[in-house]
Amino acid sequence: MNHACKEISRLASESIERELSLWERFRFHLHMAVCKHCRNFEQAIELMHQAAALMHQSRYGEIKLTDSQRNRLHKAMDELN
Ligand SMILES: [Zn+2]
Repeated sequence: MNHACKEISRLASESIERELSLWERFRFHLHMAVCKHCRNFEQAIELMHQAAALMHQSRYGEIKLTDSQRNRLHKAMDELN
């Protein structure tokens, strides 16, 4: 992970707690447009949130992902390593 990627992942986590400035959002989207690593990372985070939401909904604590969701999650995780 290079310096720009660290900055972007920091912005991504801060965006949950506060609204990003216009400049920060611009840098975020610009970086996402050029950086495959961060796009994969964002997708993996999004899928993990979906999985957590599904687990929360399920009475038995089971995660029920569709095949395509599971494949996308595995692919995203593979590309992070
Ligand atoms: Zn990046």
